[in-house]
Amino acid sequence: MKSSDILLGKLNTEFKTVSAMIEIYCKKHHNATHLCEECQQLMDYAEVRLDRCPYGENKPTCNTCPIHCYKPEPKEQMRLVMRFSGPRMLLHHPILAIRHLLSEKRTVVDKPQPNASNRHIRLKNGNKK
Ligand SMILES: [Zn+2]
Repeated sequence: MKSSDILLGKLNTEFKTVSAMIEIYCKKHHNATHLCEECQQLMDYAEVRLDRCPYGENKPTCNTCPIHCYKPEPKEQMRLVMRFSGPRMLLHHPILAIRHLLSEKRTVVDKPQPNASNRHIRLKNGNKK
C-alpha cells in the first residue's frame, strides 16, 4: 500500500486502496518482489487521474463515476487489477476494502463543482509538487 505525497484526504485513501490492489495483482501475475515497471506506471497514472478528478473530495468510486477519464489501455489494465484484487482486498486490507464498498453505496453526485479537483486545491495552496 502506498501513500501519495500530493493527494489530500479521501483521495489519498482511494489512492492507498488502488495501490494496494495493484500490489496484490503484480505479486501474483508478474512474480515481482517489488512492483514491476508496468504496474508502477499504472499506479502513477492512477495518482494523476485522482489528482485531476473534477469531483475532487466528492469523487464517487470509479465504477459509479459518470466521467470515464482513463485512456483505453490503462483502463483495461485497471479492470483486470480490480477484478483480481477486489475480492482479495477483504483479506489483505479489510478496512480499506470496507470503506470502498461503503462509498460505492453512496449516490453519485450529479455534477462536479468548479475547481474542486485535488490539483486545483493543491496548486492554490502553493503545493507545486
Ligand atoms: Zn506488475
